[in-house]
Amino acid sequence: MDFRDSQEERDFRIQFRSWLAEHAAREPIPVGPDSRAAFLFAWHRQLYTAGYVGLSFPVDSGGRGLPATYEAIFNDELGAAGAPSGPAFGHIANAIRLYGTEEQRRQHLPGLLASEVRWCQGFSEPGAGSDLANLSTRAEAVESSGVVTSYRITGQKIWTSEAIWSDWCLLLARTEPGSRRHHGISVFLVPMRTPGIDCRAIVTASGTREFAEVFFDDAEVDAANLLGKPGQGWVIAMSLLGYERGPADIGWVSRFARTLRILEDEGRAGTLRRESTLRASLAKAYVDLRALQVQVQRTLTSRKDGSTPGPEGSIDKLLMTRTDQSLHRAMMDLRGAAALLDDGLDLDLYFWSRAQSIFGGTSQIQRDIVAQRVLKLPRAGK
Ligand SMILES: Cc1cc2nc3c(=O)[nH]c(=O)nc-3n(C[C@H](O)[C@H](O)[C@H](O)COP(=O)(O)OP(=O)(O)OC[C@H]3O[C@@H](n4cnc5c(N)ncnc54)[C@H](O)[C@@H]3O)c2cc1C
Repeated sequence: MDFRDSQEERDFRIQFRSWLAEHAAREPIPVGPDSRAAFLFAWHRQLYTAGYVGLSFPVDSGGRGLPATYEAIFNDELGAAGAPSGPAFGHIANAIRLYGTEEQRRQHLPGLLASEVRWCQGFSEPGAGSDLANLSTRAEAVESSGVVTSYRITGQKIWTSEAIWSDWCLLLARTEPGSRRHHGISVFLVPMRTPGIDCRAIVTASGTREFAEVFFDDAEVDAANLLGKPGQGWVIAMSLLGYERGPADIGWVSRFARTLRILEDEGRAGTLRRESTLRASLAKAYVDLRALQVQVQRTLTSRKDGSTPGPEGSIDKLLMTRTDQSLHRAMMDLRGAAALLDDGLDLDLYFWSRAQSIFGGTSQIQRDIVAQRVLKLPRAGK
């Protein structure tokens, strides 16, 4: 694929760049947990109002129907400008678009795209993280005259990002009594204000409340809130996890490149610690970034025709993690005490890089996926 912009793409890039120069906040993102969340939601609404959300989403689902390259340019410019990222709900929006009824699409997609209605993803449980198929939250069908009218949900989710600020949850629960592993699981669209749901914030090491434990105690949702067919949950979950990666990754490439440039400038100005091992760590971050960039461009090429993302996304996730962690570790080492004594932003970035190897599937699990599903290697021990 030729990564030079076409005339139309260039026009879009210039237009968005000048919009950003005028509208992107000058002040840093607030560090306080609630003010940070409020700041980001307001930013996402601003992007939506200006027409920059859902660029590659189909027109009949509320998007602009543009090729994925526009999404990539949007993210590239956000990262290069050091502006906050765009909304990361693509996987939930795609699940509703692909598996929802007409009624569900009409009810949920407009508010989701506009960042007016907030969603969280209720997959992980205390006994089901990497091994998601071990989930035990159950949704019991309630019937009237042989017709399922509602489901009663009981169980516990954990590490649910942004749950305390969310209006809805995309939930995985077992609908087939006695079913095991990936069989008998369904997806529900659950209003978070449903009686029987108790959402308790988890305060992280960096002081944020971005996670919660969510308890379900006979929480009853209407049968119309089932997404897809009963028992189709595993297929839906796997297809939406693929959408967690994609054109947004190019934004991280330009964001990391910007940080690296700033560190280089600081090095030249003599404000960084000077040790030969630290020089090498900066060089490593540079090499990691170049490898990531090539891989992300390769993935984008394969997505250009709109094809569904496959297991190759695990390679991007691994390289993304490696780059994020090597770069922000180098940043902490090079800035030394200054990184701890400033406004907390360096530490925030460093903590986030550590989480990269856990969320969306740990690095060990990604390596397993690459080995088995991309390289078709046999399972260990067989
Ligand atoms: C920032 C962040 C945001 C998150 N947001 C959400 C969210 O919104 N919704 C949600 O549902 N979840 C969310 N999670 C949870 C995340 O999906 C899980 O933490 C992740 O899947 C790992 O599960 P676990 O924590 O139970 O660890 P475990 O699965 O218990 O793993 C523990 C360790 O064992 C290793 N391991 C496990 N199995 C294997 C294996 N087969 N082979 C090799 N090594 C293995 C793992 O790699 C890991 O190092 C989030 C997590 C983070 C950090």
